[in-house]
Amino acid sequence: MAKIHNLGFPRIGAKRELKHLLESLWRGDINETTFNEKSNELWLSNLQQQATLDHVPVGDFSFYDHVLDTSFLFGNLPQRITEQAVSDLDKYFLFARGKAGQDLCCENAAGEMTKWFDTNYHYIVPEINKNTQFSLHPKQLLQRIKTARGQGYEVKPVLVGPLTYLYLSRSTDETSLLDKLPDLLTQYVLLLTSLGGAGIEWVQLDEPILSTNISSEWSMAFRYAYQRLSDTPVKVLLANYFGKLNENLSLVTELPVEGLHVDGLQGEEEVAHLANHIQDNQVLSVGVVNGRNIWKQDLRKVLRQLQPLQQKLENRLWLAPTCSLLHVPVDVTSEDQLTDGLANRLSFAVQKIKELEILREGLNRGEAAVEDALTASDAIAEQAGTKLAYNPLLDNDEPCLHRSTPFDERYAAQQSKLKLPLLPTTTIGSFPQTQDIRKVRAQYRHGDLDEAQYKEFIEAQIKLCIKQQVNLGLDVLVHGEAERNDMVEYFGELLEGIAVSRFGWVQSYGSRCVKPPIIHGDITRPVPMTVEWLAYAQSLTDKPVKGMLTGPVTIINWSFVRDDIPQSDVAYQLANALRDEIADLETAGIKIVQVDEAALREGLPLRQEHKEAYLQWAVNAFKLATSSVSAETQIHTHMCYSEFSDIIDAIARMDADVVTIETARSHLTLLDAFKCTAYPNAIGPGVYDIHSPACPATETIGNLIETLVDILPVEKLWINPDCGLKTRQWSEVLPALSNMVSATELWRQKLTQTA
Ligand code: GLN
Ligand code: ZN
Repeated sequence: MAKIHNLGFPRIGAKRELKHLLESLWRGDINETTFNEKSNELWLSNLQQQATLDHVPVGDFSFYDHVLDTSFLFGNLPQRITEQAVSDLDKYFLFARGKAGQDLCCENAAGEMTKWFDTNYHYIVPEINKNTQFSLHPKQLLQRIKTARGQGYEVKPVLVGPLTYLYLSRSTDETSLLDKLPDLLTQYVLLLTSLGGAGIEWVQLDEPILSTNISSEWSMAFRYAYQRLSDTPVKVLLANYFGKLNENLSLVTELPVEGLHVDGLQGEEEVAHLANHIQDNQVLSVGVVNGRNIWKQDLRKVLRQLQPLQQKLENRLWLAPTCSLLHVPVDVTSEDQLTDGLANRLSFAVQKIKELEILREGLNRGEAAVEDALTASDAIAEQAGTKLAYNPLLDNDEPCLHRSTPFDERYAAQQSKLKLPLLPTTTIGSFPQTQDIRKVRAQYRHGDLDEAQYKEFIEAQIKLCIKQQVNLGLDVLVHGEAERNDMVEYFGELLEGIAVSRFGWVQSYGSRCVKPPIIHGDITRPVPMTVEWLAYAQSLTDKPVKGMLTGPVTIINWSFVRDDIPQSDVAYQLANALRDEIADLETAGIKIVQVDEAALREGLPLRQEHKEAYLQWAVNAFKLATSSVSAETQIHTHMCYSEFSDIIDAIARMDADVVTIETARSHLTLLDAFKCTAYPNAIGPGVYDIHSPACPATETIGNLIETLVDILPVEKLWINPDCGLKTRQWSEVLPALSNMVSATELWRQKLTQTA
């Protein structure tokens, strides 16, 4: 009998309950006890949604991030956190977010945050140094296991595996990460032993680094580690996801584990290989429901693929989503605003669990037993096939992929026309999204405000925002994005071929969720999307106001994308729409346009051999969108949380006049990439971390500027925060930006004096 299980369930709740709890706790509206009680209820209801599974995951629920949880579990916190005399929960959030009201100097700095593989989920990077000593703190995990078992669930604890944990860590001195493996394994052995003692049969260890190109040193470490873990009384299910195993395929078959989980959608032939090569007592868990996308699976087809496997493996065949369901929304049944045709094609976490049930029934009791469910899913697949139209004519016949004037020439022309000083200051686009703004947008959405009232309100916000920026003395202004709920969703609502869900929330980091739009058809731009707001903003000031668009690659990477045509085709369709928008902005007198490619890096394929093809279409799409402007129009782009060293050439090929990047929280290490390759165009490295409520001191920013003027050509240097300010309060933003402007002015003086 095939069994079904899950690798992880979305923790935020169908209505973002966890987000609201966290924010109430941080505001002080609820205390720790209430927070613990309420979050426990949420977790239990998540379990309930998975009650039909043969094994439910425990350890996937987290208050903020499961990698951070792993650091806590193994007592791996930086000294600057452990020495604080506060509760464990406060330490947890301190490492996650830094401390409100304090300067961002190192002692209080939050942990670095970075993307989880090629997803839009962010984790807190564990820190390792020569003094790192691990210790076991399993109280919360054991408590959850006990509770879940008490309710009758067959519990399978889920942990980040030791190799992936170390691989994702950052060494803060020269200590080699693998040096710490033996010590870390001692703790894993202790933990698995105590789980075995508590009656746990299976433990899932997630090792998605197996989807990447790991060195032979790391594959040796895999052999060593899993040998040591095999001496514990639990059965280990080693889980790989986010891609195929490729050259790691033979490695995993040699590891002494009781089970393997692999992605059966991307790696169908690997599954067949494993079915023939695993040992007689090993379980093969096959990911057959896509954990990264929201389209229903063609269950009849999957069932046909699974039948021979089941004959071979019988009860050693397990079925699961390809990866944790963390990356999809909770429940599609609350979507009442999608067309029936589209809604019928969708499957969120709850539906994916149902899909697994149908597959189990189909395998164990025969297709006839699930005929109705299968027919429904087939009908859906057919409908999808006829509805998704791809029109190749939407591709530009003669794509204009290059600016007509070389960078040096056009940049000089732009700067003098814009009358910008040395070290121009700017922001990344959004200003605080206050309660008021959210309320009015919601009222407008619900029809409680008419268009004229709404327009009046947004214009008032733009006016306020411009006034504040003029007072602060910023050089390049923005309109503030008050009309945007989200930088991708906003365009998703205005473009044809993209639908927006009501509750399709997915966790991005901590309490922050995004609602990825659904790209389901050909993309066109029926009307201008930003021109009216930008033209109004520009009418209020002589300083340049920067137009603000989201780039094609970011729209794709932060959406759920149709999977019937290549992503590159979707990107070119988007690029064509953006190009028309930029042309309209130019006509309306906008002289700088920023095209955000915040998510370009995260879409980079995990494996080396796939990277160039991605970068090729990503760069082309950006250029298709931005290259047709006049020489004097300045193109900016913005990227956040990116490790740039491996894509710096591609960023240069994008040929934006100015690129603003995240650097504040990763201690400027990113800049090395720009320095080493002598990045040709202008750069605005973020000089303070907007993700923390802490206010940066003028001196701290000044020190950063000092480092910057040292390593980058000063005439091509811009000064800005490291991301948009929408999640902050005005009371945080004003002093921070004011310090940024003061620090810049000091440096401007110094530089002109010495010149
Ligand atoms: N322009 C966007 C903003 O300022 C960019 C956000 C982002 O990069 N994530 O909010
Ligand atoms: Zn950003």
